[in-house]
Amino acid sequence: MFVPLRFLAMAALAVPLALLSPLRVQAQDLSDEEVEEVHDFIMGNIVFILFHEFGHALISELSLPVLGREEDAVDALATVLLLPDDPSEETDQMVMDAMDGWFLSDDYMVNEGEDPIMWDEHGLDLQRAYQVACLIYGSDPDGFSDLADSVELPEDRRETCLDDWDQAQSAWFGLLEPHILDEGVRSKGIQVIHEPAAPGLEEAADFLRETELIEVMATEVLSRFDIPERITVATTSCGEPNAFWDAEEARITICYELADFYRELIIEDIKNRSP
Ligand SMILES: [Zn+2]
Repeated sequence: MFVPLRFLAMAALAVPLALLSPLRVQAQDLSDEEVEEVHDFIMGNIVFILFHEFGHALISELSLPVLGREEDAVDALATVLLLPDDPSEETDQMVMDAMDGWFLSDDYMVNEGEDPIMWDEHGLDLQRAYQVACLIYGSDPDGFSDLADSVELPEDRRETCLDDWDQAQSAWFGLLEPHILDEGVRSKGIQVIHEPAAPGLEEAADFLRETELIEVMATEVLSRFDIPERITVATTSCGEPNAFWDAEEARITICYELADFYRELIIEDIKNRSP
């Protein structure tokens, strides 16, 4: 049975997103179009982070071997899952929003005067942005040449992006293929919970709950894998904009602060664009 990973994402993203009820973030003098942009940006980035953490979960639950840095490997998985064989406007939007998220978060760090953390287990945000950009380009060089131009991806790097893409896709598919359930079969092992929000984070919490974004991804993507243990995906207040995989608890945590951080990033970006 050959089920390319990209089909999984397509199944997930092509239909259900249209069903998501858009929850309006509080308009801060934003046009309807800009509000839509904020909404899309938060969704694309939260899905990328969810898939990234799910990559950690798969590695630990299925005892997958990882050569190289695990953080880079799971970023690649998140990108592969967001690039379906038969892309739609929604899927393209999500993966480009995730890429923009890394560029904007790098800008934010620079503006805040934060020094890059060279010993961090993650790549620097700007490196992560270019790695995602490279995989997007490598997946369809003709279709994404404008995107490569817009982020000034150098020509010599572009050539290696095709290999990066093939390698990311085949490596992940090779590892996961034995664990993909048959068409129509879903694992019952994923549960989603939304914990109460700390003061100030209610809007982010409502957004994640009411769009049912995590539930849709859990049902359509995460539960397509045969994972021995029950995994909880929890949204909660953490005190920092972050997300975690906890192997002992078999729990993925997505912090409300993270959704709020993405809301701030994109609103700031929109405002800076105005003449
Ligand atoms: Zn990670």
